[in-house]
Amino acid sequence: MKRFLKVFSFALPYRKSLIFNFFFNFLSAIFSLFSFFTLVPFLQILFKIKPEKVYEKAPEFSFSSEKFMDMITYYGQSYIAENGAKQALLVMCTVLIAMFLLRNFTRYLGLYFLATIKMGIVRDLRTRIYKKVLQLPISYFTDEKKGDILSRMTNDVVEIEASVVGSMDMIFRDPITFMLFFFSLIAISPQMTLFVFLVLPVSGYIISKSGTGLKHQSRKGQNKLGEIISLAEETLGGMRIVKGFTAEARKLKHFAEMNENFYKIMVRLHRLQYLASPLSELMGSMVIAGILYFGGTLVLEGSGLQGEMFITYLVIFSQMIPPAKSFTEGFFKIKKGEASIERINTILHSEDKITEIENPIALAEFTTGISFENVRFKYVTEDVLKGISLDIKKGETVALVGPSGSGKSTIADLIARFYDIESGTISIDGIGINKLKISDLRSHIGIVSQQSILFNDSIANNITMNEENPDMVRLEQAAKAANAWDFIQQTENGLDTIIGESGNKLSGGQKQRLSIARALYKDPQILILDEATSALDNESEKLVQDALNKLMKGRTSLVIAHRLSTIINANKIVVLQHGEIIQQGSHQALLAEEGLYKRLYEMQGF
Ligand code: ADP
Repeated sequence: MKRFLKVFSFALPYRKSLIFNFFFNFLSAIFSLFSFFTLVPFLQILFKIKPEKVYEKAPEFSFSSEKFMDMITYYGQSYIAENGAKQALLVMCTVLIAMFLLRNFTRYLGLYFLATIKMGIVRDLRTRIYKKVLQLPISYFTDEKKGDILSRMTNDVVEIEASVVGSMDMIFRDPITFMLFFFSLIAISPQMTLFVFLVLPVSGYIISKSGTGLKHQSRKGQNKLGEIISLAEETLGGMRIVKGFTAEARKLKHFAEMNENFYKIMVRLHRLQYLASPLSELMGSMVIAGILYFGGTLVLEGSGLQGEMFITYLVIFSQMIPPAKSFTEGFFKIKKGEASIERINTILHSEDKITEIENPIALAEFTTGISFENVRFKYVTEDVLKGISLDIKKGETVALVGPSGSGKSTIADLIARFYDIESGTISIDGIGINKLKISDLRSHIGIVSQQSILFNDSIANNITMNEENPDMVRLEQAAKAANAWDFIQQTENGLDTIIGESGNKLSGGQKQRLSIARALYKDPQILILDEATSALDNESEKLVQDALNKLMKGRTSLVIAHRLSTIINANKIVVLQHGEIIQQGSHQALLAEEGLYKRLYEMQGF
């Protein structure tokens, strides 16, 4: 039941379509019933059955099935009396076509509205996940998780689409058909219906029991096959040893034994499988025979059930089996999709750990500087930063150097509050960044990283980050200052050129200059350059470095650099090792000290 509620909860936003769907499904089932009941007069005509009652005048209309059948019989009789049986037959067939036309038309209308519901659910799910993913903190996206998130966004949504959403037709339609048919069976003959629904579960049980053995054998077969394949694989890999030790005959014997075993299991499996269809047919025919006998007796005894009604009963009963079957199928399909629903729900309900305080402080202008005080931080268990204290005054360029893994990028990420710290404080203009409005804080920061992050969109959108009404003058200035304008002009459509996935239509240097243009366009007061030139060859590095110099002019910059030659002019150089600051000062001052900086500098061939 919970399972069905879940399906309904998905569909809830589409109440209107749901109501229409229900309405037309209901109509369609009604028309199906009518088309079956037209059989009655048909049979009466064909077998020249004399009705028990002869009506003087039309019976009054009422919703009871007896009265309804009386009416059909009455009009059938009077028509035959007036126009002859052949003519009546023609009319019957026309009515039948009309009924089927209506039934299928309403069925289509039901599906018409179902399309809105089904596709809407899938659309909403995708957007909800994407939106949630955008809100999740950076710490959520570790490398091992990225694949998992992607798989949830794609495979699991597809799975839900196929299973839960795919079974909606059945879940919404079949119970209606089933119930209506069921009620009409009761109306025709309560005794018969009681009999049928006592016999049916018993035969169902016997059939499903025979399936259990099948599953067991099939699992055994799968395991055996696995063993055979791994033996073959092992032999192929170890061929040199097998031949060198002349063990071919022994290996063959081993293999043949396994294969024989597998053969026996599979023979048993297939024999069981072949049994299923004759068995279910036998059971089915036994049920039918039972019904025929029971119903036949009722007809012969004249206990209220007439021959033509009995045949109609059988027709309706046979039409109940497909919806019952597809409904159970749908039920199991939903079960299959449940794992995916759960996997998606864990993303949708995961908490965003970077939160703002109740009344976050706005930061319209960055005025004095950034300061770290005794900051400790860890990603998992080990402290990555162990008490960092650092001042970056407004307008200064501060460089972070040190071996890889010493914590440089972590410091940069902490300024943008991509992670929250363990202890200590990071403040901007004297205000702890955890008290600031996150969007305000980030609006002051521009980032250029080693890997240019570009999107499969136009050059203009990559620079403005999809701003709706970009300032074209500023855009051109930014591109020019980033030494990107010339190559942009040479592309096929200039600023409107689509640059391919991750910008793969551009060279490394061009990509990086676009990233710089993006930072220039944003015009932030604080700049973070994380190894912005490391991935480039010498030629493009010059153009990029030149662009970077223009970008840094008049801003406060934190520069992470591997090549020390690029940062000798920084106001302050901070040397990190194992998450601690071990030296800081100007280039000249640090060179004068015996320490890591001097060693690194000398190692780079200066
Ligand atoms: P650097 O920039 O100096 O090369 P980082 O700041 O990237 O160093 O990394 C510092 C330490 O933190 C390294 O030991 C690294 O393995 C670890 N680290 C970095 N990012 C993560 C992360 N997302 N999860 C766990 N550990 C991380």
